[in-house]
Amino acid sequence: MTTTQTTRQDGDLAAEGLSVGYRARTGLTQVLADVSVQLHSGRILGLAGESGSGKSTLALSLLGYRVSGQEILAGRVAFDGRDLDRASIKELRKVWGARLAYLPQDTATSLNPALTIRRHFVEGLRRHRGLDNAAALARSAEWLARVEIPEPENALHKYPHQFSGGQQQRIALALALSVDPEVLILDEPTTGLDVVTQAHVNRLIVTLARDAGIAALYVSHNLALLATVCDELAIMYAGQIVEQGVASAVYAAPRHPYTAALIGAVPTIASDRPLHGIPGIPRPSVPVHTCGFAERCKFRTDACDTDIPLVTLAEDRAARCVRLAELPAFDPGADHAPATVVDRAAPAKELDAILTVDNVGVVFARPGSGEPFVAVDDVSVRVPAGRALGIAGESGSGKSTLLRSIAGLVRPSSGTISYRGAALAGTAGERPVALRRAIQIVFQNPDATLNPRHTVYQSLERPLKLFRPDIAKRGRREAVAAMMRQVRLAPDLVDRYPRNLSGGQRQRVAIARALLAEPEVLLCDEVTSALDVSVQASILELLVGLQAERDLTVVFVTHDLGVLRAVADEAIILQNGAIREEGPTTRLLREPSHPYTKELIAAVPDPERANEFLSGGS
Ligand code: SF4
Repeated sequence: MTTTQTTRQDGDLAAEGLSVGYRARTGLTQVLADVSVQLHSGRILGLAGESGSGKSTLALSLLGYRVSGQEILAGRVAFDGRDLDRASIKELRKVWGARLAYLPQDTATSLNPALTIRRHFVEGLRRHRGLDNAAALARSAEWLARVEIPEPENALHKYPHQFSGGQQQRIALALALSVDPEVLILDEPTTGLDVVTQAHVNRLIVTLARDAGIAALYVSHNLALLATVCDELAIMYAGQIVEQGVASAVYAAPRHPYTAALIGAVPTIASDRPLHGIPGIPRPSVPVHTCGFAERCKFRTDACDTDIPLVTLAEDRAARCVRLAELPAFDPGADHAPATVVDRAAPAKELDAILTVDNVGVVFARPGSGEPFVAVDDVSVRVPAGRALGIAGESGSGKSTLLRSIAGLVRPSSGTISYRGAALAGTAGERPVALRRAIQIVFQNPDATLNPRHTVYQSLERPLKLFRPDIAKRGRREAVAAMMRQVRLAPDLVDRYPRNLSGGQRQRVAIARALLAEPEVLLCDEVTSALDVSVQASILELLVGLQAERDLTVVFVTHDLGVLRAVADEAIILQNGAIREEGPTTRLLREPSHPYTKELIAAVPDPERANEFLSGGS
C-alpha cells in the first residue's frame, strides 16, 4: 500500500458498538450487531461482504441516515463529539454534503438529469462553502479538471446524459469533494463501469481522498479491489464484523474461515489458484447464540453454538471465531481441491471445430441519424467441440453482439457462421428445430428471461416440450428433478416462482433450462456479472464441471479477465468490434502482446501489485 499523504484529526467518524434492527408487522429483525469501526483522516477503510451482510446499512448509518422502521438498538455513531444517530434532520442537513459526502453506485442518485453540471456545483458551493458565483464557477472548473473531464468550462454547461457512465461518476466524485468534506462514504462507486474506466475512477478516488486528508469508507463486494486500494479492511457477515485488519495482511493471510472462503471465490488472473464457491446462502439477520457463518463453515463444531466476540489477535488484527487458536492463518492459494482454472492438453488448433465464425460483420443504423455503426468488424474464430472460448472486452466492444449473432438473435451483415461445417441461417427462426436445440444461450439477467408467472417446473418443462420428444410427459418431472440436482438446485424449489429464489438460484434455473434442451453449444452472456462473488464462483465451478461431464462446447462472454481465466481454454479480446488478440487464455493473460490487452490487464485490481495499479501501471 502507498502511505497516506495528509492527516487531519477533525474528520474522524466512528460507529461504537452499533446494533441496528428493522421493525415490521412480523417483529424486529436485527441487521447489525455490535459493530465498531473508525474512519481516520487520510485513510481508506474497505468494507466487504456478500449481499445482505449489512455493509450498506452500516454505511448509511454512519451518515446518520435512517429509513422507516429502522431502530438503533445499541451503540452510537460519533462524529466531531456529536451522536449522529440521534441528530435531528436539521442538524444532519448541516453536515450532509458539507462535511460528510456520499458517493453511491448509481449517479442518478447524485446527478439530477434536469440540471446542468454548473447548477450542481454552484448550488453546493454557495450553500456549503459560502462562495459567490464567480468563485464557485472557478472552483467547479478546477474540480472537473482534477477528475480529468475534458474542456471543463464547456462541460459545466452540459447535462449529465451528455457524459459517459465513467465521466458521470468522475463528475459525481468531483461534486462530492469540491466542498472539502472531512468524510467520504463510497458505496460500490465503480460497479457497473468498464474495467479500464473502473481503474481510472478508483485511482482518482484514492489519490484525491488521500491528498485531501479525507477519512473514507469504501463499500464493495470486490475484495481484490478493496485489498488493492484500501489501507484497512473489515469483512462483514450476517450483520457482524468477522475480521478486521491491515488490508494487504487480511487478503494475504485471512484468519476467519469466511474471509478465506470469500478470497477463494475471487477470480484472479495472477495465478492458477483454484476458484471455489461458498456453499449455502448468507443468513439475512444477526445470529443468536451461534456463529453467523456456522451453516456454511466446514470447521464448525459444537463449540461454535455460542455468542462469539471479536477477538483482538494483534494490535491491528481482530477476528470473530471460536477456533482461532487451532486454525492457522489460511493460505487462499494452498487449497488443492478441483479447480475451475482450465488447462487442456491438446492445442485447440489441432481439434475439429464445431462452430466456425468466418469474416462476420454486424452493422447497425445509429438511432436518429441512421448512420451505419460497425458493431462487429470482420471477426473470424473457430471453436473446437468440447472446448470453451472466452470473448472479452469492454462495453461496446461487440462481444455480446457477436454472441447473439451466433445464437441467431442478430442477423450478421456479412460473413458466415457454421455449425459442424454447414452454414447457419442468419436468425434462429430460420434455423431447423434440431439446430435451435443444439445452440442454447443464457443471459446476464435471469429476471429478463424467466417468466415471473411460471414456477421453476413450468420454466424447466418448456425446453422438454419444445426439443425433447424422446421424453414422455410422465417422464418430465424426473428429468427436471435430475437436472435440478445437476445444477445443485434443491428439489423442493421446483414449485417456487422466480421472485422466491435468490439471484444465484434464478441463474441456475436459467442454466438448467438451457441444458434440458441437451445443447452441444452453450452460449453464456455475462452470466455471472450480476451475482455475488461466492455465487459467481459456484456457477463457474458448475459450468466448468458440466462442460467436462457433458463434453459441452461453451462460448463465454465476460468483461472480467479473472472469470475469463477460470472458464476459457482459448480467448479473443475484442475492441470496437474487431479482434485485437487471440490465443490460449493462460498465455494471453501471462504474455499479452497487443497494447489493448495490456491495458485491460493493467486495469485489473491486484493486491500484490497495488502500487503499480494505483500509479496506472507506470
Ligand atoms: S466459530 Fe465455528 S462455525 Fe464460526 S467460523 Fe469459526 S469455526 Fe466456523
